[in-house]
Amino acid sequence: MKITVLSLFPEYFEPLLRTSIIKRAKEKDLFEFETVNFREFTKEKHGHVDDTPYGGGAGMVLSCQPILDALKSVRTPRSKVILLTPQGDVFQQKMALDLSKEEHLIFLCGHYEGFDERIRDYVDLQVSIGDFVLTGGEGACMVICDAILRLIPGVIKQESSHDDSFSNGLLEYPQYTKPPVYEGKAVPEVLLSGHHANIAKYRHEQALIKTAKNRPDLLNDLDLSEQDQKVVDS
Ligand code: SAM
Repeated sequence: MKITVLSLFPEYFEPLLRTSIIKRAKEKDLFEFETVNFREFTKEKHGHVDDTPYGGGAGMVLSCQPILDALKSVRTPRSKVILLTPQGDVFQQKMALDLSKEEHLIFLCGHYEGFDERIRDYVDLQVSIGDFVLTGGEGACMVICDAILRLIPGVIKQESSHDDSFSNGLLEYPQYTKPPVYEGKAVPEVLLSGHHANIAKYRHEQALIKTAKNRPDLLNDLDLSEQDQKVVDS
């Protein structure tokens, strides 16, 4: 997997590559990462990459030329090009999984008032990380890259992501670690029993209960068994 990020602020990504799990994965060469500052591609004589909006209004709009020339310089027939925008499809775990199987992802990070509308014609996908507006696409890109990279084989233990929230459509069951009692709050007995089948049953039921309580909308997409439905209704 190779990730190329087109951004006016490539320094944004340094902490991601220098920290924790992503740092170790990078050191093991489990992925390649590069940034391209599209300002270096502008043909505007003062180095500008944006201009005032036609029709008037506040702010500056990113111009086609520097972004599309930068894109041309890195795109191959096997690249998937993703434009970050609050107007795009909302990013979810399923999309993270699909994107983690791609060979080359190119992200376009906007800034200021966003992109000239015509740039959208040159991308494969427009993605938003939620219904709010950021100052730039870099924060959104880091969120998406983090979610994708941890799904690449070898980055984390495969079992760790199996039961993660959203992986099977449910939120994850409650997790506990030592001590068995903290300020009078005890870890559920079954988790200390060593009985694997009972633990698996408990966890599945707790995942159903938690999802029904915190995110009932997720259950609409699932075909629950009669037994699971009883747990949800209880
Ligand atoms: N005027 C644009 C609009 O209302 O759709 C918003 C522009 S925003 C201030 C600047 C850039 O931040 C966008 O071009 C995009 O790359 C990024 N951005 C902002 N919010 C985002 C979100 N929720 N998801 C993904 N990218 C976002």
